[in-house]
Amino acid sequence: MAIILLGPPGAGKGTQARRMSEFLKCPHVSTGDILREALRNETELGKKAKAFMEFGSLVPDDLVNAFVAERLGRKDCRRGFILDGYPRTIFQAEFLQSLCARDNTSVLTLGIEVRDAVLIKRLSSRWMCPRCGRIFNTSLDSSGTGGRCNACDAALVQRKDDAPEVVSERLQVYHAATKPLVRYYQELGTYVAIDGDRPVNEVYDAVLGAVKSRTDKNYAQRGRN
Ligand code: AMP
Repeated sequence: MAIILLGPPGAGKGTQARRMSEFLKCPHVSTGDILREALRNETELGKKAKAFMEFGSLVPDDLVNAFVAERLGRKDCRRGFILDGYPRTIFQAEFLQSLCARDNTSVLTLGIEVRDAVLIKRLSSRWMCPRCGRIFNTSLDSSGTGGRCNACDAALVQRKDDAPEVVSERLQVYHAATKPLVRYYQELGTYVAIDGDRPVNEVYDAVLGAVKSRTDKNYAQRGRN
């Protein structure tokens, strides 16, 4: 199964994806993490993506689709994967549908919904571990105190694109390009809305509940076939 975490920046997709990936033992594919690593390593992809990311715009679809197809084609994704930050446009969603149809992969879309005012507050207090990518929020999660990651002890950093002017651009881009995907997945019948304006453990319970109910349905369906 492909689990898609859909939602605006700051909705908690990365945190939920990381926990689910550990629990379900399937890979967490974050296009933002892949792009940030490419930027750090100054690869061709990183050089092409840099300006888009700094301004809070989307990296062109063809570039993103190409590296996602390569990543999902690897052996560890055969039994399922969790997508975080992808797809972000209708064009990407259609590309992903074609991959899933080809591989007979079922899709579950979890839409983490959070109001803009809450997102702006969260992003301004968000800290990230540059080594493992864990997210800490000074107003939500006290494990980031002391400014070090509680998993690998690296000094936490703030993302450049969490600066207020870039956040406002990213939210506009989300509403214009990515929000239409809610409708797209509703029409495909794969969309489950999750209220993301709750403590992180409650969101996680809702996310796991949705995965379990879809898995049960898939088994029942298979039993009938
Ligand atoms: P994220 O960590 O998911 O918020 O992504 C950080 C930045 O990477 C975004 O603001 C975009 O510039 C770029 N990016 C990540 N995923 C995608 C995607 N699926 N399509 C286009 N650009 C992306």
